[in-house]
Amino acid sequence: MIERILFVAFDHLNFDYGVLSDARPERDLIALVESQRMLTGRPWHPERLFFMVSAARHFAEEARERGFTVRYVQAPTTLAGLESVRAEFGALPIVSAELSSFGQAAALSDFGVTFIENDFFLTSRSDFGLWAGRQKSFVMENFYRAQRVRLGILVDDGKPDGGRWNYDADNRLPPPKNYTWPARLEHERDAIDFEVAAQLEHRPTTTWATTRAGALAQLANFVENHLSGFGPYEDAIAKDEWALHHSLLSPYLNVGLLHAREVIAAALSAYRDGLAPIESVEAFVRQVIGWREYINGMYWFLGPDYRNLNRLNATRPLLPLFTDSRKTEMNCVRSVVSDVEKRAWVHHIPRLMVLSNLALLTGTNPQEFLDWMREQFIDAAEWVMVPNIIGMATHADAGLLMTKPYAAGGAYLNRMTEHCKGCPFDPKKRVGEDACPFTTLYWDFLDRHHETFAKNHRIFQQLNGLKRLGDLPELRERASEVLERLSAGTL
Ligand SMILES: Cc1cc2nc3c(=O)[nH]c(=O)nc-3n(C[C@H](O)[C@H](O)[C@H](O)COP(=O)(O)OP(=O)(O)OC[C@H]3O[C@@H](n4cnc5c(N)ncnc54)[C@H](O)[C@@H]3O)c2cc1C
Ligand code: SF4
Repeated sequence: MIERILFVAFDHLNFDYGVLSDARPERDLIALVESQRMLTGRPWHPERLFFMVSAARHFAEEARERGFTVRYVQAPTTLAGLESVRAEFGALPIVSAELSSFGQAAALSDFGVTFIENDFFLTSRSDFGLWAGRQKSFVMENFYRAQRVRLGILVDDGKPDGGRWNYDADNRLPPPKNYTWPARLEHERDAIDFEVAAQLEHRPTTTWATTRAGALAQLANFVENHLSGFGPYEDAIAKDEWALHHSLLSPYLNVGLLHAREVIAAALSAYRDGLAPIESVEAFVRQVIGWREYINGMYWFLGPDYRNLNRLNATRPLLPLFTDSRKTEMNCVRSVVSDVEKRAWVHHIPRLMVLSNLALLTGTNPQEFLDWMREQFIDAAEWVMVPNIIGMATHADAGLLMTKPYAAGGAYLNRMTEHCKGCPFDPKKRVGEDACPFTTLYWDFLDRHHETFAKNHRIFQQLNGLKRLGDLPELRERASEVLERLSAGTL
């Protein structure tokens, strides 16, 4: 007899973790709700919507195959969907793993759902809170080292394998020349995919798997073909290779199709077998047990109001080029936005040093930028976008997370990308018609905020550089023209 309704959110798709870890077909009913609000409430990227819905429908199908009673409900809202399940089965208790945003958690808690601890991460919210509560500043590297020791990963007797905690200095190479990138895995579409695609009127790419089997194949492909080269080129932006050696695992980790534990185990096993060097394995491990856990921990630690911070008073409306890559001639930006348009994904550095850098330098409102990123990316979720955008990307928290803003001009982008060649702008120029907008705006940003950053020793050198500029009046004039044209979508 059914005694409990187990609510499986679309980012809890796993039988071994979350509310299903102790589920039994004879006792538990599995409920998933595809809410109309979720489908049409915001202008979601169709590829993202397709991935979320198709992954959930495949999961529901697998639950049925495992003998569970399943209700996959299409309803106006999640609560309406749960009401309909209760109408059919009676007022049974509804249980869920802790949800992944403040808003969702409050709504379901008010409805009477009870929660078990969210174990989709390696660090519980309370354990992270204990760590954060002891810190003077929330330096990710300190958290990461503590994680390595706590989890016993790449450490021997409390000391880091290879003698160093962090191999970043060996990585960060520009895109390689005459290099052959291994082929990417393509994921074939099945009947459920086609049904979802037809409903959403979207023709999906073959980039993203929608099943656990596909996610596991992606993990195996990464470990075999990409892990060993991951470190050196993780910060590069190539012209003809959109993913480089990145794993493309974030969507699966974030919806529960993969767990961080198995991803790390696979990488460590390759390391032990001598298939990947320490600088790549350490770099990858840092992303998963360091950054990912830190971002989730900070989301819950900082609370719901953190999302609304705007300490640099950035008020510019979202630039038209973000919603239409044809609205700019800037090669790097047009290429990155057009990649997002294609497959709802670009790797970390285009997100940070192209898209976010542009939002930061133009003084774009952080909440408008956050909403856009949240809607466009395949792996986006509230817990992960909020600290990444408000903290890391736009410095809207005045340095709570990152000690300095990630602001960069054309010189950095010229070194790390292949886009400047062939761009109508010149990365070395800060004034004049063909000056690179990043270079102009970088100096203008420092100029506008020099008082805010006057005491920040990490950008002291750059501020000193500003004092040496002989063309500040022309620079300010060019910057105001650049800002005006970017806002009009004509640069
Ligand atoms: C402005 C900005 C916004 C971002 N938004 C998201 C987001 O919405 N969802 C998301 O999963 N990641 C986000 N990231 C982090 C990172 O860019 C993506 O996780 C990564 O590009 C996903 O591709 P991948 O799986 O190939 O990652 P890889 O480069 O192969 O890295 C491995 C894994 O590390 C984890 N990871 C690394 N950095 C972060 C981070 N800063 N926060 C959380 N996880 C991290 C991811 O799970 C990723 O799959 C953002 C970063 C920035 C700078
Ligand atoms: S010159 Fe400037 S705008 Fe053009 S690609 Fe380089 S960094 Fe981007």
